[in-house]
Amino acid sequence: MINKALNTKQCSNSKCRSKFDFKNIRYYCESCTRFLCINCSTSQRVYESVNSEEKERPVCRCTDCLTKIKKAEEDMLNAIKTMDFLVVDKAYHFILANHIDIDVKILHQAQVTHLKLEKELDINNFIKNVAHVPDYKTILKSVKILNDKVATAKSLNVDLDPIVMSAVNQCTSRLISERNLRFHMEMSGHVESTTEQVDTLGQLLEKATENSVA
Ligand SMILES: [Zn+2]
Ligand SMILES: [Zn+2]
Repeated sequence: MINKALNTKQCSNSKCRSKFDFKNIRYYCESCTRFLCINCSTSQRVYESVNSEEKERPVCRCTDCLTKIKKAEEDMLNAIKTMDFLVVDKAYHFILANHIDIDVKILHQAQVTHLKLEKELDINNFIKNVAHVPDYKTILKSVKILNDKVATAKSLNVDLDPIVMSAVNQCTSRLISERNLRFHMEMSGHVESTTEQVDTLGQLLEKATENSVA
């Protein structure tokens, strides 16, 4: 680091290039690790951790990095506002791929939102895929997969949207009704129908209609 500093004879900003001497001293940019003059660097305080109440860590950065960071932070916050997975994913991966040192609180908010939207999208897609289940024997397996997806999301502290949760509950009820109905229909096809079985079937049909089984 000292060698690198001594070998840098002038400000790394291509538009500045002022020579370093005892009056024009070197400032180190924490983000891009270049040395710059005082005019081309900034000093500010940043949050040390997500839980920090106030900005406690001083950080020195070049003006180029600061501009890049501010832009990425603004883009990330705007992406979060859309609550669209693909938009958030794009902004989030841009920050990761380019190692942009955005504010830890914004980064945390991005991670939480990214995970939440990813899980919700996955659950919603699964619900769409089980709209028609050709084999009733796999229905209970589908119910298990769906409920496991919810459990995994909750274990990761994902705060699933109430609309998603209500879709999950509705889908689970519908699948179970459909499974019971189709199971009984198959059973009654093999044996002589008793009054009891007809009653059960009637109840199941009612339940299935309630849960909008197509
Ligand atoms: Zn820099
Ligand atoms: Zn400079």
